[in-house]
Order: sequence, then C-alpha cells, then structure tokens
Amino acid sequence: MELFYTEQKNVLLQYSLPSLEELLASLPTKIKWKQTVRYAINTFWSNRFRSLSKEKSTLNRLCTDTINIGEIHPVWKIASEIPGDTKKTITKARILTGTYLLQATKAKFNIGNTDPICPLCKLEEENLQHFLTKCPTLEGVRRTFYAPINTGCNQ
Ligand SMILES: [Zn+2]
Repeated sequence: MELFYTEQKNVLLQYSLPSLEELLASLPTKIKWKQTVRYAINTFWSNRFRSLSKEKSTLNRLCTDTINIGEIHPVWKIASEIPGDTKKTITKARILTGTYLLQATKAKFNIGNTDPICPLCKLEEENLQHFLTKCPTLEGVRRTFYAPINTGCNQ
C-alpha cells in the first residue's frame, strides 16, 4: 500500500497535479478531474517533446511551437484521402523530420552505392537546397507552392 501511495504521489507531482491531501480536502467532479488530468498530461508531454526535439539535429526544420500532444500536426491536416496527396504529405513529413533520404545523404552513408547527383535533372548533387530551391525539373511544382508561401498562407 505504501508503494502504491508513493507511486501515485510521484505521478501527481510529475504532472503538476494537486497532491493526494489536496484532492481529499477538495474532491473535484469526475468530468473536471478528467479535464484537469488530460490538460496536465498533454502539457507535460508537449513541453517534454519540445525540449527533447531541440537536442535532435534531424528535427531542426520542424517548428515544434505548433506541435501539441493530442493534436494533429498541420502538415497532416492537409492530407486527404486522395492517394497522391497522402504520398506528398508523407514526403513533407519526412523532410520536416529529417528522415527523407536525398541522393547526397544516401551517397554520404554509402547506401547501395548511390550516386549523389540528382536523378531528376542530373545537373548537380541532390541535397536539400537543390531539391527545394534549385532543381529545374521541380520548378513547376515549386511555383505552385511559392505563391501561397509568399502571401503567408502556406497550407
Ligand atoms: Zn535536380
């Protein structure tokens, strides 16, 4: 029983919830308690995620301020049930999380004797800058996204 009490006390402390003594003194309603716990847990893990993500170099392109536990990331909100759109969203999510492997990365880590040159235009090394801003083959796709970004509506 002592162990149970200690564990409960630690959980309440971890999520900055009222202590057992405070709860016994003023017992909240079930609905109010569920809201309080959900908010405390989501806040704790959102903050934990933000602090841990700053230590991960692959997440440096991800804006963690807009990410909250229990909410869908904006990049996934625009994904529809159209297979092509979902595939595009997967690519965007991989770029944001640093898990999209470009030719230069594959060549750097010697994955399957990959050539670092862009397979689309074959002009230069395919790195993130080339992929996002320079590749002439992707110019048409890029143009459709630049206009909304320039107007501040990058959905
Ligand atoms: Zn290219």
